[in-house]
Amino acid sequence: MKPTHRTLSFLLAVASLAAGADTCPSTLVPASEDWSRDILHTALLVDVAAQTATAVIRVAPSGSTGLSLEVGDLAILEVTDAGGAPLDFLVHEKQLDVGIPVSDVPADIVVDYRYTTHTDFDGELPSGATFTWPYFCGNLFPCHSDPSDGTTFQLQLTGVPDGETAVYPETIDLETASYVLAWARGRYTYRKLGSSRDGIEIGVYWLPGGENQALQGAEYLVDQFNWYEQTLGRYLFGPRAASVSVDWGGGDYGGMEHHPYWHISSGSMYDVETHAHEAAHGWYGDGVRIACWEDFVLSEGTVSYLTARVFGAVQGPQAEAALWDEYHNLLLISQATEDMIAWPEGCNQIDMLEDLFGFTPYMKGAFFFKDLEGVIGRDALDSCLAGFYQERVGTAARFQELLDYIYLETGYDPTPLAEAWLRSSTIP
Ligand SMILES: [Zn+2]
Repeated sequence: MKPTHRTLSFLLAVASLAAGADTCPSTLVPASEDWSRDILHTALLVDVAAQTATAVIRVAPSGSTGLSLEVGDLAILEVTDAGGAPLDFLVHEKQLDVGIPVSDVPADIVVDYRYTTHTDFDGELPSGATFTWPYFCGNLFPCHSDPSDGTTFQLQLTGVPDGETAVYPETIDLETASYVLAWARGRYTYRKLGSSRDGIEIGVYWLPGGENQALQGAEYLVDQFNWYEQTLGRYLFGPRAASVSVDWGGGDYGGMEHHPYWHISSGSMYDVETHAHEAAHGWYGDGVRIACWEDFVLSEGTVSYLTARVFGAVQGPQAEAALWDEYHNLLLISQATEDMIAWPEGCNQIDMLEDLFGFTPYMKGAFFFKDLEGVIGRDALDSCLAGFYQERVGTAARFQELLDYIYLETGYDPTPLAEAWLRSSTIP
């Protein structure tokens, strides 16, 4: 797309942060492959009517002249530096290679492109909500789907049809995984539910006809959010957070942790657990992100455990016990249908969807933490989860690093228990 005055001011505000970069190379640096470049910031200006966008990708200084980005099925129209000077680029096999001058300051790469609607939960869905987990960000914007490469974000949507509201964060100032960024649009109604003790506004967005279910599912959301915040530490995805109903086909499909406006399938909006679960990802999964897909249990196991705990804290011990019963049923289902390894060895050697997605990492992870709590005590585990969050928020962590942290803090080495639960195909 071609920048307008409005878009230019948005993009120049981004580019100015990299002032000092050589923006007028006299000769083109040849495009080359380099997947090791660190993306620092991603600014997107998206026209949802035209399905065109401009992305400003800021990369860390490097002695390399190559930069590779995932671009899925995007049609790349133009690639320039922050000053508008063309950069050499090559698109092949869902990959964009760019040539950029060596720089000792961050460099902004400006990519104009078109994107298309996707029907398989792998891009912008027909409903106008986006879904890129785990590795489909390239169908929406040039990216690294590897969760270890966190980026901060800016997002601005234009072309939103009259009568629709677009729900998205204008900025995410915490480095997080590419799949965290999302937008949704539709005929939304918003209600503020309250504010957390740290002053975060908590609300809920529903689609036409969805008010009762939304208010039912979000009944405890402020109290749940408060418990996470007061137990684990300050929420860092911005001053507002909300559950957002999205059209995923209407079924009870759960949610996706797009902080600060996490998505919940319209058919799951009634469900208190789904709201509590997605909210908890603001601390584990998004706040502290996983370094490798094999560390998925650090996100989902921890969050499933925290969800049970927040049920106890907000709704009482009976609600917590009932959720553990539900978890136990899911554990038995996963035993019957999955290979039950929740924490594979290695780093990014698995296919997240093919090899690990299922109830196992959620439920075995939750029960591992429940057993650990039995050994070291509730207060000690809370204090470790808080301390690790506060130390590692905005960074990528291995699950082993959390275990090592717990060992250091408590004197109890949780690794054998973790291996018994998470690296075996049985239930201890
Ligand atoms: Zn989750």
